[in-house]
Amino acid sequence: MSSLIFLRNTQRNTMNIQEIKQSFRTNKPILIYDPERENEVDFVIPNSCLNNSTLHFMLQYGKGLLCCAKDQDILLQEGFFPLPSNHQDPFSTNFFIPVDHHSVHTGIGIEERIKTLQELDHSCSISNFMYPGHVSLLGGIGLHNRKGHTEASLEICESAGFSRTATIIELLDERGDTHTVSYAKKIASEFQLPFCSIQDIYATMIQNKTFLRVTSQANLPTEFGNFQVVGFHNEIDQKDHFAVIKGDITSGDILVRIHSECATGDVFHSKKCDCRDQLTQSLQLLEQTQKGVLIYLRQEGRGIGISEKIKAYSLQEQGVDTYDANIILGHKADERDYAVAAQILQALHIQRVVLLTNNPSKREGLQKYGILVVKAEEVLGAITPFNQRYIETKVHRFHHQIPLKSSGGSNESF
Ligand SMILES: [Zn+2]
Repeated sequence: MSSLIFLRNTQRNTMNIQEIKQSFRTNKPILIYDPERENEVDFVIPNSCLNNSTLHFMLQYGKGLLCCAKDQDILLQEGFFPLPSNHQDPFSTNFFIPVDHHSVHTGIGIEERIKTLQELDHSCSISNFMYPGHVSLLGGIGLHNRKGHTEASLEICESAGFSRTATIIELLDERGDTHTVSYAKKIASEFQLPFCSIQDIYATMIQNKTFLRVTSQANLPTEFGNFQVVGFHNEIDQKDHFAVIKGDITSGDILVRIHSECATGDVFHSKKCDCRDQLTQSLQLLEQTQKGVLIYLRQEGRGIGISEKIKAYSLQEQGVDTYDANIILGHKADERDYAVAAQILQALHIQRVVLLTNNPSKREGLQKYGILVVKAEEVLGAITPFNQRYIETKVHRFHHQIPLKSSGGSNESF
């Protein structure tokens, strides 16, 4: 077992919450970038921080659809209702009936829209509003359920100490077309507005809120030694994950293996991959060191599920590698996320980790959720004629740090 030095930069959360608080307090919006879903940037501000010049600025430079975001549960509770949908919007924008406060005249002037937005931030019973009106309403379902601008704007308002009611508008360029990110950054710089991504807000939320609970605990005698097994349920992916624990993990740097489920390899000893080797070696190491955790994450096939993984295997039989196979099937090459693993480590009060992995993305995936990976230790499986191409793809396309000539495992020959 040797330490690895990863070459790629780790992902850092560059969001500055103090800067965002200050921006809101001085009635300035922030810009939130969605690089994964819509590739859009929106202006966002808590409704309580709006004034005439702020809204004028957002309409002038944003040019998109002015909306008020609020938690769906609250909107439903207060009598607001969703617009009919034919479910063809690929981004699942959750529009509610647009409204005007009952005190306004036409509802469209800046002062009148501010009145409606401010009242939506206060007691927002539907009985105080006329519909349909001129302020579009969006229902948020929680950033852990949907990584959209609606949910991110509510989360950042709360993180900055304001109520969960946000005014948002898409940024369009000078011609009213979809902007480039460099244009959005130029606007942020020109007007000294904080710029962050939905992923930054999500990572901060995962560090600060708990979406997971321990469901069960028992002894687990295995052929590798005696362990404890702990079950968890979470509200992020709604799956039950579990951790296999050895010894006292309450202090010091803890040896951790985050093992993504591979039913074909782990259970059926498939020769197509090196997963089972990594699983057994990790358990043997925990037993040898008498201290550590193996988190078994139910994200089969790098997060695409067993059926899709079998489709990917079929494509590989036609000569496609495992990276391209996932892309051809409409997935990312690697869809895994380590937010649940970070929450399990938090629940086990583990802050400093020695990570058993050859995969730099796994280290980055934990660090962005606030887990300190003090070092990584390699865990090498046997390279065989059956898995050689798969492991070469891991090295060349996923940047795993695996020596291809000498595997370190018990190389089989066929
Ligand atoms: Zn596998």
